[in-house]
Amino acid sequence: MARDYYEILGVKRSAQAEELKKAYRKIAMQYHPDRNPGNKEAEEKFKEAAEAYAVLSDSEKRRLYDQYGEAGLKGSTGFSGAQGMNIEDIFSMFGDIFGGHFSGFGGFEDIFGGGRQRSRTTERRGSDLKLRMPLTLEEINTGVSKKVKIKRLEVCETCNGSGAKPGSKTVTCPVCHGSGEVREIANSFFGQVMNVRPCSNCRGEGIVIEQRCPQCGGEGRYQGTKELSIKVPPGVTTGNYLTMHGEGNAAPRKGSRGDLIVIFEEKPHEFFVRSEDDIYIDLHIMPSEAVLGTEMVIPTLNGRVNLTIPSGTQPDKILRLKNKGLPHLQRGGKGDMMVRVQVEIPEKASGKELDLYRELLKMESKKMRAENRYSKIR
Ligand SMILES: [Zn+2]
Ligand SMILES: [Zn+2]
Repeated sequence: MARDYYEILGVKRSAQAEELKKAYRKIAMQYHPDRNPGNKEAEEKFKEAAEAYAVLSDSEKRRLYDQYGEAGLKGSTGFSGAQGMNIEDIFSMFGDIFGGHFSGFGGFEDIFGGGRQRSRTTERRGSDLKLRMPLTLEEINTGVSKKVKIKRLEVCETCNGSGAKPGSKTVTCPVCHGSGEVREIANSFFGQVMNVRPCSNCRGEGIVIEQRCPQCGGEGRYQGTKELSIKVPPGVTTGNYLTMHGEGNAAPRKGSRGDLIVIFEEKPHEFFVRSEDDIYIDLHIMPSEAVLGTEMVIPTLNGRVNLTIPSGTQPDKILRLKNKGLPHLQRGGKGDMMVRVQVEIPEKASGKELDLYRELLKMESKKMRAENRYSKIR
């Protein structure tokens, strides 16, 4: 099952967004289900290409894939790879779910020339919900379980989601005679194709209700709130997201719930700056401390730790505290804590200090020779 996404799309590993899109478009056209009705092999190829494109067109997923292969995309935290997508997913996923948020998922409507008839709707599905979740570095460091309250469409209890007034009858749809589908021949850029579209009279359900539920007006759902507990894995970064399957909006009558997509955002920290999984901080010391060396206690995300400043430490020197950074997401190990030394020159020295500096100057000026005063800028 070793499938290389770049190979599937027939592009080099360095391929840019435009090239990926072009390559994907070509394959998607070739193996498009409308063009290859009933052809399982074509369908597989179509799905495979969508999966490859879903990953490679998302810069974060692509980075994980480049580094760790398919394994980088899977795992307990539910980072959605495109595995197990059905055809319907492919169109819905690239059409609207991620539009605007994840650059890679933008252009799909373009690819299919302004959307496509959803011909295979056998089940109605509620829409997906997006939730932004700001996190502190401390929370990202340990991982956290968060309770959130979301507004979402819930199944109407009065009619149990059927939309029909309790005790009222449902009748077979007179337009589609219960199949929920309307078939028609249409012209498309593939030539003449058979289009199967959901019946608009019954919205693809095959039945219509005689009397609407008074509680929900026949929708089978209502705007409610739901409290959920969301488990954030340690090491996430801004733009990572978690798909909670079946926690989105209820479908209008019957059907399955959409998904809840939780998008993580890192809040700025007072002192710490993150770079990948390393944490940077500036440490301000006195010239005497730089010359003589000293012991310090440094705050890290993992508690306070001792740090030795060696004698003769230069300004901008970065001291590394191994494994005191953030945990790597979905693989063992941690980043480091990087302490950059800033030597503070006293702006207002006292009389006694100035006396000592003057004495120091007499000694130092003998050591610093003219030819050592200049160098090329580093
Ligand atoms: Zn109802
Ligand atoms: Zn119908």
